[in-house]
Amino acid sequence: MAKVAHAASVLEWDTPLYQQARTQLEHALELAEVPDFVSARLRHPERALILMLPVRMDDGTYRSFPAYRVQHSSVLGPTKGGIRYDEAVDLGECAALAMWMTWKCALLRLPYGGAKGGVRCNARGLSTAELARITRRLTAELAPFIGPELDIPAPDMATNEQTMAWMMDTYSMQKGYAVPEIVTGKPVSIGGSLFRHEATGAGVVMVIARACERLGWVLAAQSCAVQGFGNVGGIAASELRDEGARVVAVSDISGGVYSPEGLDVPTLHAYVAEHGSLEGYTKDVERITNEELLELECDVLVLAAREDQVTAENAGKLRCRLVAEGANGPTSVEADRILAERGIPVLPDILTNAGGVTVSYFEWVQDLGRLFWDRDEIRRRLADQLSDAFDRVWSVAQERGVSLRDAALVAAIHEVAAALESRGIYP
Ligand code: NAD
Repeated sequence: MAKVAHAASVLEWDTPLYQQARTQLEHALELAEVPDFVSARLRHPERALILMLPVRMDDGTYRSFPAYRVQHSSVLGPTKGGIRYDEAVDLGECAALAMWMTWKCALLRLPYGGAKGGVRCNARGLSTAELARITRRLTAELAPFIGPELDIPAPDMATNEQTMAWMMDTYSMQKGYAVPEIVTGKPVSIGGSLFRHEATGAGVVMVIARACERLGWVLAAQSCAVQGFGNVGGIAASELRDEGARVVAVSDISGGVYSPEGLDVPTLHAYVAEHGSLEGYTKDVERITNEELLELECDVLVLAAREDQVTAENAGKLRCRLVAEGANGPTSVEADRILAERGIPVLPDILTNAGGVTVSYFEWVQDLGRLFWDRDEIRRRLADQLSDAFDRVWSVAQERGVSLRDAALVAAIHEVAAALESRGIYP
């Protein structure tokens, strides 16, 4: 085992975020008690692809963009995971996120393993036409490695329904017929699922609501701060408000807004739709920084922006009573320890933001069956699946006296381990 652990430290994806995923895994493996060959197999991705995408820019020049796709585990089925466009995308980030996707899918008992990919670029600085050419070139280069039975991409940071439509069209053009099941998170007009757009943010709030029940709190009586006002955070803020909770602060990359009486969330959405971000919004609010938002006094802090936001530096300064991880990997390993010492429970990412991949699974099932469900049915199925996963995590945490993150990881690892033990290592 020591040899295997040593080998990890020299592999190409071994970046700080990957180490965070590995540290969490190693800790959970101590609790999970699975055979050594299972642990060894799960420590690393099965496959990683590095690409340089040549793209013609609007001014006629050509630029090359690094791109990645990492597939962590195909034991339970095709791999599944988002595509992000961000300047920080690298192999280690994709490997860490792919590993988290494996745990998330397994925890929700979806027949998938984890994958993740992305293009290193500043999406905000690119035109729609440039983004389309990047996406189409990426899809063409990925074509031999993705497929409805092999690896199914989805949106993530700075990618959206339009990005998925370009991917679906490019893949379909190469096949010669429409293949809607190649991606999820598509527009409904080409086989997307109702409620997919809202699924991650709505799922975050379903998990928070379930946690409140267990903690003996009334969600409608809680004050909430939400970091990130995109697909996950924006929807979570709306759903919290719909549940009657007071959303006292939200933020995006441009900074945050705060009102102790509660923000007018629909007006904020309308502002962002018109102006692109919260920048410049001042009506009846106090402007705050992202750092200040994290340290606000509130009941529930929703982290829905990006990884590595609560760290050893600020974990001691949080003044919330519950942290909900809408983003992937927003809490560092040291911060987890500090929050545990301070008695602040963390609803872990692989459970809390799993609504997105769960409805992506529903979308894929609907596409394969060419039979589409209505919104109420999807919302009900999502609530059932998240409640079931939440209850299993809560039980493991209670029985073993471990954190919710460790409990979620142990429950997920057991799902993958059972499949790997049944299948064995080929040949
Ligand atoms: P998005 O691009 O729609 O929104 C991201 C939001 O965070 C934007 O408001 C952006 O301005 C803000 N942001 C970015 N950097 C920030 C910073 N440093 N400080 C404060 N705000 C910042 O992306 P998204 O789809 O909402 O994803 C957010 C997180 O949720 C990511 O970690 C992603 O991996 C995770 N996630 C997304 C989904 C999904 O279905 N979209 C599913 C599961 C997990």
